[in-house]
Amino acid sequence: MICPKRTSELLDLHLAPFKDKDPAWEVGVSKIAGRGVMATRHLKRGEIIFQDSPLLIGLAAHEEDSLNSCSVCFKVLPDTRFMCRQGCGLPVCSLCSKKKQHKSDCDMFKSWGPNEPDVANSVIIRLLCVARAINLSKDQRDLIYCLQANLDNNHRTEVRNAAKCFKNFPTDKKLVEIMNRTVAVLRTNGFDKTTDRTTDNQEFNYRALYPLFGVMNHDCIPNSYYTFDEKTNNMIVRAAVDILEGEEITTTYTKLFTGNIARHLFLKMKKGFTCKCPRCSDSTEKGAFISGLYCRDTNCTGLVVPEITGLPHPNWNCLVCKQKSTHAQMMKSQDFASGAINAKANSNSLRTLVHYLNEKSDSFIPNSNYVVIDAKMSVLNRLAVGREDCNEDLESSTKWRYCRDITQVMDKLGLGDSLLRTQLETVFRKEEERRAKKQLELAEKQRQQAELEAKAAEADKLLAALAVEGDAATAVAPPEQS
Ligand SMILES: [Zn+2]
Ligand SMILES: [Zn+2]
Ligand SMILES: [Zn+2]
Ligand SMILES: [Zn+2]
Repeated sequence: MICPKRTSELLDLHLAPFKDKDPAWEVGVSKIAGRGVMATRHLKRGEIIFQDSPLLIGLAAHEEDSLNSCSVCFKVLPDTRFMCRQGCGLPVCSLCSKKKQHKSDCDMFKSWGPNEPDVANSVIIRLLCVARAINLSKDQRDLIYCLQANLDNNHRTEVRNAAKCFKNFPTDKKLVEIMNRTVAVLRTNGFDKTTDRTTDNQEFNYRALYPLFGVMNHDCIPNSYYTFDEKTNNMIVRAAVDILEGEEITTTYTKLFTGNIARHLFLKMKKGFTCKCPRCSDSTEKGAFISGLYCRDTNCTGLVVPEITGLPHPNWNCLVCKQKSTHAQMMKSQDFASGAINAKANSNSLRTLVHYLNEKSDSFIPNSNYVVIDAKMSVLNRLAVGREDCNEDLESSTKWRYCRDITQVMDKLGLGDSLLRTQLETVFRKEEERRAKKQLELAEKQRQQAELEAKAAEADKLLAALAVEGDAATAVAPPEQS
């Protein structure tokens, strides 16, 4: 473990531009692992804990067809002639081509001699975030070395592959080592589509390293959440729940709605540790049953959960009839359900998927299961973009129902605030208002209808009375004299 004091000094230097006189955090020895970020005072839910700026940032450049963004300001450029005229192999806008940042990127990549400097190459563009570590100050580089790095066999692949795209790629061991280390640190602590770190439903298309955030430890029920400032790409970390003085401030490295076993495997393989948080130690996941499945006995309505937590292939137990099942047996049920739901999700009809989730899937997979939650999230995301083949009423009722369902899962898990929760609650409230308005309108319509009917009845009565009177008058009228 690198000493918390040295880490603090380096972080102070990094955060100097927006230094807080009375920071709400400090780096200290963690009960979870090594060192972590601790609250120096009581923090209220929603309060800003700290701001962090990217020590390294670059284009993620994952999709070959979207490489035309400026490598400095990230603005999308016209489809043609967006590559630097100096031959560095990087896309850059005319404004940024004169900036200091590009000058240093440009000098470095030009000296390495890209094979095809006029062609946007994702490997070269993606490497920029890593290569920028070379031009950092010594303190900044020390800060990178302070962060956890998963130095597995694969971490050298990226730089090795990138080297093939240049004529004079550096062979200096020290430089290559800086880049390899940076790749490993980025993979462990950075943001990138490939790191699978949840971005809480936020668009984040860069590859970036936020050092203070990188020091935070993981909890499957984090007590903080973050957002990005679009202009500066700074990260703002807030308290998701009330946090006590001295308590560790945690974040999550995994997706929130995956079951214990999947999270366990992900954290072990990609992050190199075993999580022992309260959620991971509870096979019902605080009663949210994210990985819960139905009992294999068709006469039993019980839910089946892993017998013990923390194993990759546990036995499973029915909570009602206590029947035991092997992991393979339960995975068969899970795979069947995942396959069936994903097939509906991949079919083009949103209406079909919604109908399936509302009426059918519950017969073979509990609604609490992550496959169902994922499918509902994807329905909400699709509805946010367009209604597809849903009519207005179906859109509205689906949004209302799924937002409610997912926030209920969050409540069960004990998840506090997050951007996702805010989004879900906003949509829910809007639909709730719409429903209330509709109900008022309906009540008003019914009132009017009743009024009309009452009036009609009144009129009928009057007419009937008149008819009776008329009959009587006819009856007593003297016969006409001829
Ligand atoms: Zn630019
Ligand atoms: Zn250039
Ligand atoms: Zn955990
Ligand atoms: Zn059972």
